[in-house]
Amino acid sequence: MASPSGWRCSNGLSVSKILIKNGRIIDPASGFDAVADLAIVEGRIAARGAGLDAAGAEVFDATGLVVAPGFIDMHVHLREPGIEHAETIETGARAAAAGGFTSICCMPNTMPVNDNATVTSYIIDRAKKFAPVNVFPIGAITKGSAGEELAAIGSMKNAGIVAISDDGRPVMNARVMRRAMEFARSLDLPVIDHCEDLNLSAGGDMHDGLVSTRLALRGIPDTSEYVMFAPDILLSKSTGARFHVAHISTRNSVAMVAHAKNLGLPVTCEATPHHFAITDAELTTYDSNYKMKPPLRTSCDVDAVIEGIVSGAVDVIATDHAPHPGSEKMQEFERCPFGILGLETAIGLSLEKLVHTGRISLGHLVALFTTGPERVLQLGRGTLAVGAPADVTIFSTDMQWTYDVNQSFSKSRNSPFDGRKFLGGPMATIVSGNVVWRR
Ligand SMILES: [Zn+2]
Repeated sequence: MASPSGWRCSNGLSVSKILIKNGRIIDPASGFDAVADLAIVEGRIAARGAGLDAAGAEVFDATGLVVAPGFIDMHVHLREPGIEHAETIETGARAAAAGGFTSICCMPNTMPVNDNATVTSYIIDRAKKFAPVNVFPIGAITKGSAGEELAAIGSMKNAGIVAISDDGRPVMNARVMRRAMEFARSLDLPVIDHCEDLNLSAGGDMHDGLVSTRLALRGIPDTSEYVMFAPDILLSKSTGARFHVAHISTRNSVAMVAHAKNLGLPVTCEATPHHFAITDAELTTYDSNYKMKPPLRTSCDVDAVIEGIVSGAVDVIATDHAPHPGSEKMQEFERCPFGILGLETAIGLSLEKLVHTGRISLGHLVALFTTGPERVLQLGRGTLAVGAPADVTIFSTDMQWTYDVNQSFSKSRNSPFDGRKFLGGPMATIVSGNVVWRR
């Protein structure tokens, strides 16, 4: 721990300084968990410890709050370029800040698809101008995410992508996936697959089971997810590429990832709050705000996802924030698109289902949003170590609040959690030493 004097400016010039006082600092990256002060000078963590000198600093009283490394959401759809009526980089990034996220990774299924350096640079440029949080683009695996021909992965890497994925669609051709993994391995990029066998899921609107039968809706079987795991995991083994499974949703998927990890393979996975918070039983109202891919599964699957989080089989919580305008979500159930908002409710739902239930510790929760995604993406973030970029998430574990989707910073309103009461949630979001959002 640096001494309090470590952050005083030796040449006497005034510097932008923030002192976060008396918070419970939880930094899984360095194993630090104690009530202390955190000093930020010129956009970096300058010191942490008890009784730091507040002279010249803007003081933030964090008594009773958790002070954590900035949360990273590695799975977000920002819809820009091309689908700006649903979301823009600016509105999505504002929703991220209000959700306690300091860094987000945007999936490439925009219009045009982010499958070349020009689109990558455009996104980075727009984010620099308009986004209050860090935005890291993910490049497509294949041209147009059509699954056939490799995208310009090398030049996108030079332009700034942090991973490749055709999310929204799987890469079903094993020959294409093998070449993508060889490329990714040589460029040290993780490969993220949206695992869905389109032949098995074709025409489906919700999880295939008792509820879909009762509602007479077409089902998406759980097999459509995990049959894709075997080829991907085997190709990761043969190429040595780092393979990350997006939005895991079934009991067998969790078991297969755990098995791959036991074999020592470079396989990781993420779970979304909605996949561990609610089940397909919610669909009985035919509310399209419960329609997403992968679909909400059974309580048996939800339990398995939570067990996977507890055991460490699940590395990351990511939201799969997928805005759609009301005009599209309000159509009849079979016609409306898949996906829901996620950024502003992620911390509240995770506290409710994982921490308040006693399933995991607060430290583990923070790790799922920080060191977890950092290990996959290697962004140089996710820690409050002295010298690190001052990205900080401050949240409460006991504040009572109600989510009102009409107050959302997102351009869209498609959340099933409108009106839900939460115990605990984000209080302030600091990016590179700037307070970008405060409750
Ligand atoms: Zn997906």
